[in-house]
Amino acid sequence: MRIESFKVDREALLAQTLAGAFPDQRGRFGPFGGRYVPETLVPALDRLQEGVSSILPDPAFRAELESELRTWVGRPTPLTFARELSRRWGAEVWLKREDLAHTGAHKINNAIGQALLAKRLGAKRIVAETGAGQHGVASAAACARLGLPCVVYMGAVDMERQAPNVGRMKLLGAQVVPVTGGDQTLRAAIDEALRDWVSDPDGTYYLLGSAVGPHPYPYMVREFQSVIGVEARAQMLEQAGALPDVTVACVGGGSNAIGLFHPFVRDLGVKLLGFEAGGTGTGLGQNAASLAYGRPGVLQGCYSLLLQDEHGQVQETHSVSAGLDYPGVGPEHALLATIGRVSYEAAEDGESLEALAECCEAEGILPAIESAHAFAGAKRHAKANPGSRILIGLSGRGDKDMPTLQRTLLKGVL
Ligand SMILES: *Cc1c(COP(=O)(O)O)cnc(C)c1O
Repeated sequence: MRIESFKVDREALLAQTLAGAFPDQRGRFGPFGGRYVPETLVPALDRLQEGVSSILPDPAFRAELESELRTWVGRPTPLTFARELSRRWGAEVWLKREDLAHTGAHKINNAIGQALLAKRLGAKRIVAETGAGQHGVASAAACARLGLPCVVYMGAVDMERQAPNVGRMKLLGAQVVPVTGGDQTLRAAIDEALRDWVSDPDGTYYLLGSAVGPHPYPYMVREFQSVIGVEARAQMLEQAGALPDVTVACVGGGSNAIGLFHPFVRDLGVKLLGFEAGGTGTGLGQNAASLAYGRPGVLQGCYSLLLQDEHGQVQETHSVSAGLDYPGVGPEHALLATIGRVSYEAAEDGESLEALAECCEAEGILPAIESAHAFAGAKRHAKANPGSRILIGLSGRGDKDMPTLQRTLLKGVL
């Protein structure tokens, strides 16, 4: 079943979305989201949900978070006018610079937010999972800052692929635990972190890294990441003198995209475009584009769109970008896709690497390969819509990707 044939009242869901009705009491974004977890996890999630609703709006908590974001993370991050890309693409291109946030990507916004929340909840230790290592590094840094012990579960295969990030986490004081079960990558690491959390739900806090998982995680992560869109919207009005015609972001689990998009959802004149990992093609196993090619199903506590075969088996994914290589996507994106408020497309490995190279030479900025998918998509949009004002979410910097870039773009060059 594809999303077009999903039987829902799209008009009603759009109206509810614009009215801010989601997530509802049960943590649902329309038909998506919710909590599909074993009984043992329910009390911990209930307690977390209670903490989220009482602590997040608390003025003292907000003040502490804002102070950390300003003085430690380096917010607000700048909005940069991309002069040369604008000239080349025949468009007006603006970049929201999450690559300039501490630890090099947007992930720190969520990590410091949740670590502060964990402290308020009385947690004595933090567990986190990581795939490419970026969320592990952000979590380790946030925990060091707040004096909380941090354990990061990481697939054994990923530890080998992302050795520099393993070293960074260790320097930042985290214990990195290899996960040798399952697929030995992100999915297995999430399962292991959940298992750890269930064994001590009072003393331990599970710091989840994207807008996925059971309620209240997708909501909470959106709240912490929305700082991106709130800043970008105000900066566009101030620096460009207008809102963008289109706002573009890359989508893995969907946290940087929902953070950028959410403050624009009610601006119906602003088109929203998400780009997933198109990998090497449209076949099962060749990409990680759950919204473009997936079907509804349950993964890791949440009902959303997933890459699965006709028997419902979740599929292995492929992307040149480790941070986009996940078979599921956050439930709010599944809703936004269903009601057509956001359009999602896939950008393939090759065009994303080309876009990365173009951004480097045109703007003097090395984007993460994840972010380069948004650049590839933005370029496609610019060519089809000359003169449009485009805001790109530059989710992170590409220094971490040098080993991959050596093997691909730089092969034979150096
Ligand atoms: C992790 C990561 C992503 C993908 O995660 P989302 O939750 O979809 O944002 C994108 N860009 C960068 C730089 C990342 O590190």
